[in-house]
Amino acid sequence: MKPSPEILQPTDPLPPKPVVQLTASLQLPNGLTMEVPITIDSGSNADFIGLDFLQEHNIALLPATLPLKVVTVDGRELLGGQVVQQTPPMVMQIGNHREVISFNVTQLSDTPIVLGMSWLHRHSPALAWYQRQLTFGSSYCAEHCILPSPEGERMTRSYN
Ligand SMILES: [Zn+2]
Repeated sequence: MKPSPEILQPTDPLPPKPVVQLTASLQLPNGLTMEVPITIDSGSNADFIGLDFLQEHNIALLPATLPLKVVTVDGRELLGGQVVQQTPPMVMQIGNHREVISFNVTQLSDTPIVLGMSWLHRHSPALAWYQRQLTFGSSYCAEHCILPSPEGERMTRSYN
């Protein structure tokens, strides 16, 4: 579903940020697991990882299986150009929600990872915008992502 353009045009001088920021635990291809800030941005068409982050952690890149053009609705310089590389599949965990994900590689200026509409479509998390709280309640997630751990939390709180 494409949001209509008028909803995306801020009329208020201080609109709420159209993104939610969380912390995920990411297992790098070398086996190291680290906490990484992620940005969930419905204005991004796909899932991206920043080149700087990859170089910093020596993550090897693969040619993209499906080169795609980066599109943003609001014309920010955050994302740009043609994506020609992707990461190997990595395990990413948010709360008790775990998935194997391969990111498209691009230049990101202020966040190492962006999850966009493709991710939102797949997992369909419920988002309480005011509390900036994410709940993974879809049947897809129940089947594929949610860890059956007793101490796992269903909700994940944003850090900002
Ligand atoms: Zn899921």
